[in-house]
Amino acid sequence: MVERQSSGAGEAGVERFDAIIIGAGVSGLFELYRLREMGLTVHVYEEGGGVGGTWYWNRYPGARFDSESYSYGYSFSDELLREWDWKEHFAGQPETERYLNYVADKFDLRKDIQFNTRVVSARFDEGGNRWEIATADGGRARARFLIAAVGILSAHHLPDIPGLDDFKGEWYHTARWPHRDPDLAGKRVGVIGTGATAVQLITEIAPVVGRLCVFQRTPNYCAPLRNGPIDAETQRKIKASYPEIFRRTSETTAAFIHDFDPRSVFEVSEEERIARFEELWAQPGFAKWLGNFRDIMTNPEANEIYAEFVRNKIRERVRDPAVAEKLVPKDHPFGAKRIPLESGYYEVFNRDNVTLVDLRESPIERITADGIRTRDADYPLDVIIFATGFDAVTGPLTRLDIRGAKGVSFREKWADGPRTYLGVQTAGFPNLFILNAASFCNMPRCIEMLGDWIADCIAYMRARGYVRIEATEEAEDGWTRHAAERANRSFLTRPDVTTDSWFVGANIPGKKRTYLLYANSAPAYRRKCAEVAANGYEGFAFGKGEESGSR
Ligand SMILES: Cc1cc2nc3c(=O)[nH]c(=O)nc-3n(C[C@H](O)[C@H](O)[C@H](O)COP(=O)(O)OP(=O)(O)OC[C@H]3O[C@@H](n4cnc5c(N)ncnc54)[C@H](O)[C@@H]3O)c2cc1C
Repeated sequence: MVERQSSGAGEAGVERFDAIIIGAGVSGLFELYRLREMGLTVHVYEEGGGVGGTWYWNRYPGARFDSESYSYGYSFSDELLREWDWKEHFAGQPETERYLNYVADKFDLRKDIQFNTRVVSARFDEGGNRWEIATADGGRARARFLIAAVGILSAHHLPDIPGLDDFKGEWYHTARWPHRDPDLAGKRVGVIGTGATAVQLITEIAPVVGRLCVFQRTPNYCAPLRNGPIDAETQRKIKASYPEIFRRTSETTAAFIHDFDPRSVFEVSEEERIARFEELWAQPGFAKWLGNFRDIMTNPEANEIYAEFVRNKIRERVRDPAVAEKLVPKDHPFGAKRIPLESGYYEVFNRDNVTLVDLRESPIERITADGIRTRDADYPLDVIIFATGFDAVTGPLTRLDIRGAKGVSFREKWADGPRTYLGVQTAGFPNLFILNAASFCNMPRCIEMLGDWIADCIAYMRARGYVRIEATEEAEDGWTRHAAERANRSFLTRPDVTTDSWFVGANIPGKKRTYLLYANSAPAYRRKCAEVAANGYEGFAFGKGEESGSR
């Protein structure tokens, strides 16, 4: 249909496309494929030097899935499903990065991706109903549609601890891990953070480093991953059952292969309950969370019964009872923070070269030239690793200078938390689609669903000559109220319960504590999106311009 081209006189160097996508992770790659198949000219800007997003940046030792690999890969191509052999039940970062590179090559996606290019701003041109973006290296481009495929965990967070500039050693953030692995052998290493990333990293590096100091603010309920290689017979069975796997993930609450037990904890005898807990504990992946009794995530008494079961599992594995008690979470319900899955994490604390520093007893005061100083002690270090997570969900958009129709930015509009319609648009930002499936979900499943929805919506517009789509204020108000109401139903998203979690923005100083993830089941969300589309995209206002077509 249309070619990538430079625009007319006076705008030299401004390239024009039908759609611009920011981000070349799982979302951006998928949407590039979909929109290109529809005949659109599409250009992707990616800050990183390669495809993969999360799986490009987070290359720290131990990085891997909590999703079963075969439930995480794309489902849109039977050929791809047949060709790709996952090597492990829960693939590590190198394998997932290889997979996404394979996808990019197979579908010839790279030719439309501009790497090492950060989009710094975007402005909506009200007259032309187009977005114009600017990149850090001075590039400019215009497109009818702007797709923010920037991820929910891509804006990494470095805490503002005084003295980092004085530190004489090396320091790293897990989400910006160098491509050439730093040599940690025999070194004195400090890890700040004990979330899902830290748990993976610590387990991997403890046997390698000389001394390891783990700086813990909040202990988590970590549960065994139970990973393993996929043998030939299992591989054959997985491939034969892809239709069944994707049917299952389309029906479960969070699009994982696991789903909640419809029974209450209190419907069964204590004996039966313990037997079920043990059975779940022995299973791989999130079975022990997402396969549990349904009221674990909503009823404090039900939750406490399971939380105590998990606490005892931790106590059994750590030899020093005083250390064990520091590792046992007591201040939040099980599942109110993301459950890290581990492969030997607690045994790390039985090693002679590992020290657990409880920051609640003795907070970090500063970083010195030689290490980290807490209120009570100095810890000499050669390397500091920040496993301090992300400005989740809103950060990748509020850190960007994106201004909508009235010149308002995301930072201003979302000062009190995300306001969207269906999570996909926000009023005042016409033609901008947010593709990040911000719910607790096995992400590619939600990404494919939403990516298809956006592509279908654009096809609908093109068929009718519309050049503008915008969520109405009314629809946004209704959705935002509904999302807030849903958030209050689950420990995962209740800002009053999940007090210390990135799920509610608590890890970022100054960020308003509110729900960030849409807490409804994936099937309910899918039904709602389908219903809106079937009703002529109700809640969205369309406009025709002087010129039709998408550019
Ligand atoms: C360590 C870790 C483990 C995870 N494990 C799982 C798991 O087991 N299961 C699961 O479902 N999910 C997991 N996730 C969530 C994961 O982010 C998603 O599964 C998925 O990778 C998201 O893809 P995405 O394309 O939406 O976002 P991302 O992968 O975050 O990609 C977004 C891309 O946008 C780019 N970008 C952002 N802003 C700009 C800009 N201004 N200019 C240019 N480029 C920009 C970024 O560089 C990035 O490459 C994990 C996340 C992390 C951090």
